Amino acid sequence: MSLLLLLVSLVLAGYTVTLNTAAVTEAQVRGWLNDAGYEELTGLARVDVVDSGLNVASTGCDGNSTPAAAVIQLTSPSLLSHPHITVSHEYGHVWADYHRCVYWQNSFDSYLVARGIYGQPWIDYTTAGCRNPAELIAHDYEQLFGNLNDGPAVIYVSCAQQEWQVGLKEPWNVPGFRDWFALTWTQGHPPPGYSSTPATPTPQPATATPTRTPVATPTMGPVTPTTTKCPRGWQKQGRC
Ligand SMILES: [Zn+2]
Repeated sequence: MSLLLLLVSLVLAGYTVTLNTAAVTEAQVRGWLNDAGYEELTGLARVDVVDSGLNVASTGCDGNSTPAAAVIQLTSPSLLSHPHITVSHEYGHVWADYHRCVYWQNSFDSYLVARGIYGQPWIDYTTAGCRNPAELIAHDYEQLFGNLNDGPAVIYVSCAQQEWQVGLKEPWNVPGFRDWFALTWTQGHPPPGYSSTPATPTPQPATATPTRTPVATPTMGPVTPTTTKCPRGWQKQGRC
């Protein structure tokens, strides 16, 4: 790509990148976003990269199904060790929250029904982990439509692997869910990853646990600081 074309493409992308770090370049950040399935319709306004802090997506939704401009903060240590997983996860929040706001009255209920877990007693909206629908939905995005290709040194630990005790399935093992998530959740606007990823991804034996220390599943930060109160206990841990 010529320099001119590169510059034009950077300007045309619908969000700004603010680098408070020298560890990565703007072109890298945009490349990871594109790999994650970035679509302008999600209203992503800004991506900030910092050297310390949290990986977090800030979204919002008013009572008229109008999403607020979304902002993603990424940390350079995460980007240097597992950029695709990190960016796919935070962008997954933006993507999921945009459609939740516009089409679903900002409710997770339809998603939980399609996911096959509506009404499960283990669902916990106050946790930072996979039992929180706000977290699980971002993980589902990253697994189904994002890009997790950060090399063999990074072991990805899925929500289904973390929460096997409660019977949580991998998203592609819930009949019909992948199509529903791509087509119904978005009301006919499937993400780019829907057509380019196979329906049967990585084998994941239910009994196997990684022998090496899991590196991935970054981003334990609060999902929607603008709409969610800081859960008890998080403040003590410095999460909010
Ligand atoms: Zn998250």
